Amino acid sequence: MAEGCIFCRIARGEIPATIVAESASSIAFRDIGAQAPTHILVIPRAHVASLNQLDDAILLADMFSLVRRVVGAERIADSGYRVVVNTNADGGQSVHHLHLHVLGGRALSWPPG
Ligand code: 5GP
Ligand code: ZN
Repeated sequence: MAEGCIFCRIARGEIPATIVAESASSIAFRDIGAQAPTHILVIPRAHVASLNQLDDAILLADMFSLVRRVVGAERIADSGYRVVVNTNADGGQSVHHLHLHVLGGRALSWPPG
């Protein structure tokens, strides 16, 4: 756990979040600033600062497995969705605890800004 990390605090239940799915090692909850009808974050329970620090292939598979569960529950699997991992400054990462953004429920433009 990183001192003061907001997603570690959500993982520990110290800060409320709308949790939509969980596994032994990952949690999915709704983004507080949703950018699409479905905007869910999938995080590891353990603190990992960014994709650059992720060395655990089993954890990576678990997180994407949770994405698959979430898009099924949200009924956006067939209509489509986007998984985004913002990393460090140029990637626009503002919370330095690894998270997958799962966005769907509307047509998403490309390329991103
Ligand atoms: P980033 O910019 O790091 O890729 O994404 C961080 C995301 O976390 C943002 O979309 C932001 O809305 C979301 N976020 C920040 N603080 C909280 C919080 O306390 N609760 C929830 N549910 N989402 C948060
Ligand atoms: Zn953390």
